[in-house]
Amino acid sequence: MKTNLLDFTLAELSDYFLSTGEKKYRAKQVFKWIYENRISSFQEITVLPVNLREKLEISACPGNIKIKKKNISNQTNTIKYLHLLSDKKSIETVLISEAKRKTVCISTQIGCALRCRFCATGMMGLKRNLTAGEIVEQVLSIIKDSKENITNIVVMGMGEPFHNYDNVMKAINIFSDENGLSIARKRITISTAGIVPAIKRYADEGNKANLSISLNAVSDEKRKKLMPIGRTYPINDLISSVRYYTKKANKKVTFEYILIDGINDSVEDANKLAKLTGDISCKINLIPFNPIGNKYNRPSDEKIDKFFRVLSSSNIQVNLRWSKGEDINAACGQLVSFS
Ligand code: SF4
Repeated sequence: MKTNLLDFTLAELSDYFLSTGEKKYRAKQVFKWIYENRISSFQEITVLPVNLREKLEISACPGNIKIKKKNISNQTNTIKYLHLLSDKKSIETVLISEAKRKTVCISTQIGCALRCRFCATGMMGLKRNLTAGEIVEQVLSIIKDSKENITNIVVMGMGEPFHNYDNVMKAINIFSDENGLSIARKRITISTAGIVPAIKRYADEGNKANLSISLNAVSDEKRKKLMPIGRTYPINDLISSVRYYTKKANKKVTFEYILIDGINDSVEDANKLAKLTGDISCKINLIPFNPIGNKYNRPSDEKIDKFFRVLSSSNIQVNLRWSKGEDINAACGQLVSFS
């Protein structure tokens, strides 16, 4: 099997070149051509001697995923890509365009083990983790196809990123490398359902990408029903790990709260949410639920507005986020691939 060079950080690529009898500086040349010139074949790297290009063609590849399908939402300037992987499994990736801001929402697993009740990906169960190269190539593939200058990455697609911790961290290293895509870590956001030990590890390792917590309920009873991970990590433990992160990283955290009709959208819920997060350096994103054909519904505009006003009157930084791409099932919680 060919070695996928997208699996390597620049340092690892240098080691790979040295281990195959090549000079270290060749690794930097190849890295730059992969990420800056977006080559599809090593033959395109004209700065390399012909024999090295041929050697690479035989032993390695600059990625191995393909676009199988594209759904375009003209209403919201959103494109959902179905990417085909080398084992014929597929994943979804979304490009969201808002003026100059071009955001790619990437997947980190095929399916997800956490089975959150409001999420289509959770209905699939977990098939497997993505490799670092498969995570990275989703962004490269969209850059090549759309010709857009990608400004932001959100790790909020299929999968729980902290269940594929090492590959996700490696992908962030690759995205932010100034010899490659050079997307600053402050423009990358990882969203977790709340894996408490991983939040602490992330804080300890000092990764500068942003952190977002999918909270969605303010009592353990409700959270366990919506998010089975709540049985393992109660809200108190989750909040303690978030406090630890905000202090250690000296950064704000974002809480995502999906509003579901009659489940977590009462004024009482909003007051409890304000109390729970009031002394944490944070902002809250309220996301009206995107239907996925199960028993849950989106609250009325009036209820959403009331919930929002309770938080904003408590001096909490709160945003109402209407997900993009609902009409093509590309919105939060709607990503799924059955193959
Ligand atoms: S919301 Fe995230 S963590 Fe929960 S099932 Fe969906 S992909 Fe997994």
